[in-house]
Amino acid sequence: MSYAMDLPPNLLIRYIQLGRKDKVISSETIWICASCITCSTRCPNDIDLAHVMDALRRMSMKQGKVSLPRVPAFHRAFMKSIRTHGRVHEIEMIARFKLRTRTFLEDMDLGREMFARGRIRFIPERTKGRGAIRSMLGRLPEES
Ligand code: SF4
Repeated sequence: MSYAMDLPPNLLIRYIQLGRKDKVISSETIWICASCITCSTRCPNDIDLAHVMDALRRMSMKQGKVSLPRVPAFHRAFMKSIRTHGRVHEIEMIARFKLRTRTFLEDMDLGREMFARGRIRFIPERTKGRGAIRSMLGRLPEES
């Protein structure tokens, strides 16, 4: 994902070492990171960068410095749907995301196409292990 980041991960770590917290928590990099954990598993110095990114995202939200607000909005909408149905109910997740970001008319063509192909359903599908999923997620703080 580094091609899309405003600070490459090595520079981000350097800014942390230099105490430039402001620069780091207001960067786009922490929201572009896809949490794929590739860096953490390969780092020769055993730095868990994916975990660092996660901590920086939390600090950024807490201090109101989110540079790409759509990313946490999507995350909250996604997690709310998982908590409710045990899996994503696309139309509900999209509605929550659109309400949070006030982007009601964006992606209308894509939405129409997905409906036409049966990729978006009105009735949610529920998984069998919803209770187990809820109890696992219950240990995490609820998305507001
Ligand atoms: S977890 Fe690491 S490798 Fe994966 S996108 Fe984030 S910084 Fe890049």
